[in-house]
Amino acid sequence: MKVRVIGSGSIWNEYNSASYLLDDDTIIDCPNGMCKYLLRQGITPKNISNVLITHFHGDHCFDIPFYLLIKSRGEGKNVNIYCSSDGKRRVDKLLSLAFPNSGVNIYKELNIKYSSKKEFKINNYKVSKCLVDHGNMHPAYGYLIKGKNKVIGFTGDTTYCKGLEYLASKCDYLFTDCMFINSTDKHMGIDKLHILLNNNPNCTFVVSHLENETRKELKKLKLDRVIIPEDGYEIEVE
Ligand SMILES: [Zn+2]
Ligand SMILES: [Zn+2]
Repeated sequence: MKVRVIGSGSIWNEYNSASYLLDDDTIIDCPNGMCKYLLRQGITPKNISNVLITHFHGDHCFDIPFYLLIKSRGEGKNVNIYCSSDGKRRVDKLLSLAFPNSGVNIYKELNIKYSSKKEFKINNYKVSKCLVDHGNMHPAYGYLIKGKNKVIGFTGDTTYCKGLEYLASKCDYLFTDCMFINSTDKHMGIDKLHILLNNNPNCTFVVSHLENETRKELKKLKLDRVIIPEDGYEIEVE
Protein backbone atom coordinates (compact mmCIF):
# COMPACT_ATOMS: atom_id res chain seq x y z
CA MET A 1 0.00 0.00 0.00
CA LYS A 2 1.19 3.45 -0.86
CA VAL A 3 0.21 6.42 1.27
CA ARG A 4 0.86 10.02 0.38
CA VAL A 5 0.37 12.64 3.07
CA ILE A 6 -1.67 15.36 1.36
CA GLY A 7 -1.79 17.48 4.47
CA SER A 8 -0.04 17.35 7.83
CA GLY A 9 -1.03 20.73 9.24
CA SER A 10 -3.76 22.41 11.23
CA ILE A 11 -6.21 25.11 10.15
CA TRP A 12 -3.88 27.82 11.45
CA ASN A 13 -0.69 27.20 9.53
CA GLU A 14 0.74 27.05 6.01
CA TYR A 15 0.59 23.26 5.84
CA ASN A 16 -2.43 21.60 4.22
CA SER A 17 -5.22 20.33 6.43
CA ALA A 18 -4.87 16.65 7.36
CA SER A 19 -5.62 14.28 4.51
CA TYR A 20 -4.04 11.16 2.96
CA LEU A 21 -4.11 9.52 -0.45
CA LEU A 22 -4.01 5.72 -0.49
CA ASP A 23 -2.90 4.05 -3.76
CA ASP A 24 -4.06 6.96 -5.95
CA ASP A 25 -7.76 6.07 -5.77
CA THR A 26 -8.71 6.42 -2.11
CA ILE A 27 -8.66 9.61 -0.07
CA ILE A 28 -8.96 9.85 3.69
CA ASP A 29 -10.75 13.15 4.34
CA CYS A 30 -11.43 15.95 1.84
CA PRO A 31 -10.29 19.13 3.57
CA ASN A 32 -10.34 22.72 2.35
CA GLY A 33 -7.85 23.16 -0.50
CA MET A 34 -7.36 19.44 -1.15
CA CYS A 35 -8.34 19.45 -4.84
CA LYS A 36 -6.17 22.47 -5.69
CA TYR A 37 -3.19 20.88 -3.93
CA LEU A 38 -3.66 17.53 -5.71
CA LEU A 39 -3.85 19.30 -9.06
CA ARG A 40 -0.68 21.27 -8.29
CA GLN A 41 1.04 17.94 -7.58
CA GLY A 42 -0.10 16.55 -10.93
CA ILE A 43 -2.63 14.21 -9.29
CA THR A 44 -6.11 14.39 -10.73
CA PRO A 45 -8.99 14.02 -8.28
CA LYS A 46 -10.84 12.30 -11.16
CA ASN A 47 -8.94 9.10 -10.35
CA ILE A 48 -10.19 9.03 -6.78
CA SER A 49 -13.22 6.77 -6.33
CA ASN A 50 -13.22 6.06 -2.60
CA VAL A 51 -13.64 8.73 0.04
CA LEU A 52 -13.30 7.97 3.74
CA ILE A 53 -14.52 10.75 6.00
CA THR A 54 -13.41 10.70 9.62
CA HIS A 55 -15.81 13.46 10.74
CA PHE A 56 -17.61 16.49 9.38
CA HIS A 57 -15.51 19.44 10.51
CA GLY A 58 -14.72 21.80 7.61
CA ASP A 59 -11.00 20.99 7.62
CA HIS A 60 -11.95 17.38 6.80
CA CYS A 61 -14.84 17.73 4.35
CA PHE A 62 -15.14 21.18 2.72
CA ASP A 63 -13.60 20.09 -0.59
CA ILE A 64 -16.15 17.33 -1.18
CA PRO A 65 -18.28 19.52 -3.54
CA PHE A 66 -15.22 20.44 -5.64
CA TYR A 67 -14.04 16.85 -5.71
CA LEU A 68 -17.50 15.71 -6.87
CA LEU A 69 -17.65 18.42 -9.55
CA ILE A 70 -14.19 17.45 -10.91
CA LYS A 71 -15.16 13.77 -10.70
CA SER A 72 -18.35 14.43 -12.68
CA ARG A 73 -16.20 15.73 -15.57
CA GLY A 74 -14.10 12.54 -15.63
CA GLU A 75 -14.53 9.09 -17.15
CA GLY A 76 -15.24 7.03 -14.04
CA LYS A 77 -18.52 8.02 -12.46
CA ASN A 78 -18.53 5.73 -9.42
CA VAL A 79 -17.93 7.31 -6.04
CA ASN A 80 -18.03 5.46 -2.73
CA ILE A 81 -18.28 7.68 0.31
CA TYR A 82 -17.66 5.99 3.67
CA CYS A 83 -18.78 8.11 6.58
CA SER A 84 -21.21 8.43 9.47
CA SER A 85 -24.89 7.64 8.87
CA ASP A 86 -25.74 11.35 8.61
CA GLY A 87 -23.10 11.75 5.88
CA LYS A 88 -25.42 11.95 2.88
CA ARG A 89 -27.45 14.73 4.48
CA ARG A 90 -24.28 16.66 5.28
CA VAL A 91 -22.78 16.22 1.81
CA ASP A 92 -26.09 17.29 0.21
CA LYS A 93 -26.00 20.45 2.31
CA LEU A 94 -22.37 21.19 1.36
CA LEU A 95 -23.12 20.62 -2.31
CA SER A 96 -26.13 22.94 -2.31
CA LEU A 97 -24.11 25.62 -0.48
CA ALA A 98 -21.25 25.37 -2.98
CA PHE A 99 -23.46 25.15 -6.09
CA PRO A 100 -27.02 26.35 -5.31
CA ASN A 101 -28.24 25.78 -8.88
CA SER A 102 -26.13 23.00 -10.32
CA GLY A 103 -25.46 20.83 -7.29
CA VAL A 104 -28.32 18.54 -8.30
CA ASN A 105 -26.77 18.02 -11.76
CA ILE A 106 -23.49 16.88 -10.23
CA TYR A 107 -25.47 14.24 -8.36
CA LYS A 108 -27.17 13.12 -11.55
CA GLU A 109 -23.86 12.74 -13.37
CA LEU A 110 -22.32 10.52 -10.72
CA ASN A 111 -23.11 7.17 -9.21
CA ILE A 112 -22.54 7.96 -5.53
CA LYS A 113 -22.89 5.26 -2.91
CA TYR A 114 -22.83 6.06 0.78
CA SER A 115 -21.84 3.52 3.39
CA SER A 116 -21.81 3.81 7.15
CA LYS A 117 -20.86 0.16 7.69
CA LYS A 118 -18.31 -0.67 10.36
CA GLU A 119 -16.45 -3.07 8.08
CA PHE A 120 -16.09 -2.99 4.32
CA LYS A 121 -13.68 -3.74 1.51
CA ILE A 122 -11.81 -1.30 -0.71
CA ASN A 123 -9.95 -2.96 -3.57
CA ASN A 124 -8.23 -5.87 -1.76
CA TYR A 125 -8.09 -4.21 1.62
CA LYS A 126 -10.26 -5.00 4.60
CA VAL A 127 -11.27 -1.73 6.19
CA SER A 128 -12.84 -1.19 9.59
CA LYS A 129 -13.66 1.92 11.53
CA CYS A 130 -13.82 2.68 15.22
CA LEU A 131 -15.05 5.57 17.28
CA VAL A 132 -12.53 8.03 18.63
CA ASP A 133 -13.04 10.91 21.07
CA HIS A 134 -13.00 14.35 19.41
CA GLY A 135 -14.74 16.32 22.15
CA ASN A 136 -18.18 17.58 21.15
CA MET A 137 -17.88 16.28 17.59
CA HIS A 138 -19.93 13.06 17.39
CA PRO A 139 -19.34 10.74 15.74
CA ALA A 140 -15.64 10.91 14.89
CA TYR A 141 -13.98 7.83 13.41
CA GLY A 142 -10.58 6.34 12.88
CA TYR A 143 -9.95 3.75 10.16
CA LEU A 144 -7.92 0.55 10.01
CA ILE A 145 -6.81 -0.74 6.62
CA LYS A 146 -5.47 -4.29 6.38
CA GLY A 147 -3.17 -5.08 3.48
CA LYS A 148 -1.58 -8.43 2.66
CA ASN A 149 1.05 -8.25 5.40
CA LYS A 150 0.70 -4.91 7.11
CA VAL A 151 -1.98 -2.83 8.77
CA ILE A 152 -2.16 0.93 8.60
CA GLY A 153 -4.51 3.26 10.41
CA PHE A 154 -5.78 6.81 10.40
CA THR A 155 -7.04 8.37 13.62
CA GLY A 156 -8.76 11.45 12.22
CA ASP A 157 -9.07 14.08 14.93
CA THR A 158 -8.93 12.63 18.40
CA THR A 159 -7.72 13.06 21.90
CA TYR A 160 -6.10 10.14 23.72
CA CYS A 161 -8.85 7.52 24.10
CA LYS A 162 -9.67 3.80 23.95
CA GLY A 163 -10.33 3.96 20.21
CA LEU A 164 -6.90 5.45 19.63
CA GLU A 165 -5.22 2.79 21.79
CA TYR A 166 -7.13 0.13 19.84
CA LEU A 167 -5.94 1.55 16.49
CA ALA A 168 -2.32 1.75 17.69
CA SER A 169 -2.45 -1.85 18.98
CA LYS A 170 -3.50 -3.13 15.54
CA CYS A 171 -1.26 -1.01 13.31
CA ASP A 172 2.19 -1.22 11.81
CA TYR A 173 1.82 2.44 10.84
CA LEU A 174 -0.66 4.84 12.42
CA PHE A 175 -1.25 8.29 10.92
CA THR A 176 -2.22 10.09 14.08
CA ASP A 177 -3.49 13.43 15.27
CA CYS A 178 -0.72 15.07 17.32
CA MET A 179 -1.83 18.67 17.13
CA PHE A 180 -0.47 20.00 20.38
CA ILE A 181 2.46 19.67 22.75
CA ASN A 182 -0.01 18.88 25.52
CA SER A 183 -3.24 17.01 24.72
CA THR A 184 -6.61 18.66 25.07
CA ASP A 185 -10.09 17.10 25.32
CA LYS A 186 -10.30 17.28 21.48
CA HIS A 187 -6.80 16.64 20.14
CA MET A 188 -3.73 14.55 20.83
CA GLY A 189 -0.44 15.96 22.04
CA ILE A 190 3.17 14.88 22.41
CA ASP A 191 2.55 14.08 26.11
CA LYS A 192 0.18 11.26 25.17
CA LEU A 193 2.22 10.23 22.12
CA HIS A 194 4.88 9.04 24.59
CA ILE A 195 2.25 6.74 26.17
CA LEU A 196 1.25 5.37 22.74
CA LEU A 197 4.92 4.73 21.92
CA ASN A 198 5.46 2.87 25.20
CA ASN A 199 2.30 0.77 24.94
CA ASN A 200 2.69 -0.13 21.25
CA PRO A 201 6.29 -1.11 20.50
CA ASN A 202 5.43 -2.49 17.05
CA CYS A 203 3.73 0.62 15.73
CA THR A 204 5.34 3.52 13.90
CA PHE A 205 3.49 6.81 14.27
CA VAL A 206 3.17 9.29 11.43
CA VAL A 207 2.16 12.46 13.25
CA SER A 208 -0.23 14.90 11.62
CA HIS A 209 -2.69 17.80 12.12
CA LEU A 210 0.38 19.51 13.60
CA GLU A 211 0.61 23.00 14.95
CA ASN A 212 3.94 24.61 13.99
CA GLU A 213 5.25 24.70 17.55
CA THR A 214 4.41 21.00 17.93
CA ARG A 215 6.27 20.18 14.70
CA LYS A 216 9.26 22.13 15.99
CA GLU A 217 9.21 20.33 19.33
CA LEU A 218 8.83 16.89 17.69
CA LYS A 219 11.81 17.59 15.43
CA LYS A 220 13.86 18.50 18.50
CA LEU A 221 12.85 15.31 20.34
CA LYS A 222 13.87 12.98 17.47
CA LEU A 223 11.70 10.13 18.81
CA ASP A 224 12.19 6.57 17.53
CA ARG A 225 9.23 5.26 15.50
CA VAL A 226 7.87 8.76 14.93
CA ILE A 227 7.77 10.15 11.39
CA ILE A 228 7.18 13.89 11.00
CA PRO A 229 5.99 14.24 7.41
CA GLU A 230 6.10 17.24 5.15
CA ASP A 231 3.05 17.65 2.90
CA GLY A 232 3.61 15.32 -0.07
CA TYR A 233 5.57 12.75 1.97
CA GLU A 234 5.07 9.28 0.55
CA ILE A 235 5.48 5.89 2.19
CA GLU A 236 5.20 2.40 0.73
CA VAL A 237 4.02 -0.18 3.27
CA GLU A 238 4.18 -3.83 2.19
ZN1 LIG B 1 -12.14 18.05 13.86
ZN1 LIG C 1 -9.27 18.78 12.07
